[in-house]
Amino acid sequence: MTSLHRGLRFLALGLAAGLFQMTCHAQPASAASTQLAMEVPVADVHMHLYPGLTPEELLALMDRNKVRWGGAVGPIVPGIDGDAFAKTLGERYIPAGAQPEYAAMYFRGGVSEMEDAQQPAFKQLVEKLQTDFEQKKIRGLGELILNNRNSHPEPRFRRKAQLDAPTFLALFELASMHAGFVQIHLEDDSDSIKGLENLIKINPAVPVILSHCMARASASTARALLEKHPNLYCETSARSSVLLWHPNVSGYQIHDQNSVNSSWLALIEAMPDRFMVGSDVTSKAVSYDSVISTVRTGLLAKLSEGTLRKVAYENAQRVLKLGPLAP
Ligand SMILES: [Zn+2]
Repeated sequence: MTSLHRGLRFLALGLAAGLFQMTCHAQPASAASTQLAMEVPVADVHMHLYPGLTPEELLALMDRNKVRWGGAVGPIVPGIDGDAFAKTLGERYIPAGAQPEYAAMYFRGGVSEMEDAQQPAFKQLVEKLQTDFEQKKIRGLGELILNNRNSHPEPRFRRKAQLDAPTFLALFELASMHAGFVQIHLEDDSDSIKGLENLIKINPAVPVILSHCMARASASTARALLEKHPNLYCETSARSSVLLWHPNVSGYQIHDQNSVNSSWLALIEAMPDRFMVGSDVTSKAVSYDSVISTVRTGLLAKLSEGTLRKVAYENAQRVLKLGPLAP
């Protein structure tokens, strides 16, 4: 993908970009937070594997950005050897299952195949995930891209599945049985949220990470949902000025390089245990360094010290059961 293509990722969101405005006034971060934000270890809970990236390159990117752990989503397409990454990154990798298989299912049979629990491909996937959980090769499932109807610029990638279809119910049950997490990309349509709530009701012990905090949801929508469901978490990847640079979609930014949207800042400080950060880089056209540095200067630096540590890594450490900071 070209950088233009990549940068236009959320262009389709433009229609409603005026819904809430970025408030870009400089925020009075404390000197301690400013310094801590540059040094704090980060858990990148939306770190994809993508074609052309080698395990050694990813390790180098993590090292120079002080990213202690990364993953919690999968390879974006089939055919990437996740095991090779797991071997090189060791316990710093957070392996998650089902993403490349779902990409294949979607391109083969569309949304109807994604929802059909009787498909041989789905039955095979469940068996594989079961084994992978048992052998500790995965710790959760995702990114399940179930509603990106407005948050992808290319029509062929856009889809909207029924969140509580039999397949996703089965995947939740699997995650529940193995004490794993699920990470879902959904937009905040009312029927998608209702489906999500059905999944949560049946499997309340499964921690659910909402990719990009529902892509274009407002802070008030996120707040209402997080208040209702204690096992729901938001990660803020793809909602900074690095990926949402186009004016049509800048209204969906949670933060840029220097400031956080004031509604989001208030929400994160009010619910400091429920937010995590991520990168969502899917090609070499986007700089991992600039994504992570924007998270540090534009988001983490604006938080109180306690919240900063939680959002940077402590929440991920607790929810995803990561090891201690020092290996
Ligand atoms: Zn992603």
